[in-house]
Amino acid sequence: MSDPRRAVPRTDTVLADPRLAEAAGRLGRAQVKSAVVEQLAQVRRAALAPEAVVDAVLDALPAGGTSLRPVINATGVVVHTNLGRAAYSPAAVDAVVTAAGPTDVELDLATGRRGRRGAAALAALAAAVPAAEAVHVVNNGAAALGLAAGVLARGRRVVIARGELVEIGDGFRIPELVESFGAELREVGTTNRVRFEDYERAVDDSVAFVLKVHPSNFRVEGFTSAVPVSALAALPVPVVADTGSGLLQPHPRLPDEPDATTTLLEGAALVTSSGDKLLGGPQCGLLLGRREHVERLRRHPMARALRVDKLTLAALEATLTGGPTPTAQALATTGPELLARASALAEALGAEAVPTSARVGGGGAPGVELSSAAVALPEGLAEPLRLGAVPVVGRVHEGRLLLDLLAVPPEDDARLLAAVRACT
Ligand SMILES: *Cc1c(COP(=O)(O)O)cnc(C)c1O
Repeated sequence: MSDPRRAVPRTDTVLADPRLAEAAGRLGRAQVKSAVVEQLAQVRRAALAPEAVVDAVLDALPAGGTSLRPVINATGVVVHTNLGRAAYSPAAVDAVVTAAGPTDVELDLATGRRGRRGAAALAALAAAVPAAEAVHVVNNGAAALGLAAGVLARGRRVVIARGELVEIGDGFRIPELVESFGAELREVGTTNRVRFEDYERAVDDSVAFVLKVHPSNFRVEGFTSAVPVSALAALPVPVVADTGSGLLQPHPRLPDEPDATTTLLEGAALVTSSGDKLLGGPQCGLLLGRREHVERLRRHPMARALRVDKLTLAALEATLTGGPTPTAQALATTGPELLARASALAEALGAEAVPTSARVGGGGAPGVELSSAAVALPEGLAEPLRLGAVPVVGRVHEGRLLLDLLAVPPEDDARLLAAVRACT
């Protein structure tokens, strides 16, 4: 027997392979080299044939410069925080690629002078919500509300109902956010009930605004009462409404989810919201409302610290002006359509299709059940599917793995089928 180490190629020799030289150009030499060293260690242990090294290195390398993996969202949760919330529309994907190089994000090409940053994205947002006198975009929903608190209410008070002291997720709490920007909270009402008179009594010269927060991830039922924005608008201070989900107009399937247009028409002075929930766009925070407030926020030094990247502006404009987003498409899909797709997949896999009830997710509409359908598989497949070449994330329910199709675009059914076949 010859010593297997004799046959171990040199690192530089492997790196000189044209396919690896190409990968090094894309991913950087250091990353490719460390993958080569790792695979050569396998050869030394006689766990890999020397001639298979290049293929093994290519398999081990990420497809691009990011180690983030695209996954198929078969959870039945449309806006899934752990999966990056909203998926971009094809138009938004194109826009991001276009804007990646030097762009005219802050240059007026006609005059050669500096232009308003993201003018087209802001114009698209303004056009989508004519009820807003002015609009601005910041890093996320928390930044939008934080900016409002920090600029309008620093060293002053914000009145909020106790039932709207919301924790969004991962320990992020709206009241703590508002306080961290230098505003003091004045809580009114009880956990389940608040009346107009509670607000009225709490408003004095120290109060900068009344804050209305949409409980976007829970529902209080029973003996409850809240005061709508339309009533709060009669108070002598502005109403700031954190609507959460980024809906710009009412959505027929989500009648209880507040939208920016209705909230402004009801009299809110300022609406804050997220861009990557039901709007279906990039992570960003929308500020819409009265010109005097929006302009004050936009010109404040803090706004610079919360400003968005050109890629976000590009994706937001395309989300607003391009074709339907995957989020909108998911919300427009009916149970019978999904059951037909699930049945076709189930038949191809020798599995069962089942009707399910899916959810909007952390993005809003708590308690709303969307009729959907899934392919039911053995629970043991959950892990291999997550670890596959195309990771699939489903949900385990009553001992079965459900691959829910609500958040899976129909054009991904073939990839889903291939991913399951690869595991069975
Ligand atoms: C999601 C949400 C936020 C936070 O928005 P981010 O974009 O995650 O920062 C704030 N308020 C409400 C009501 C929300 O639903």
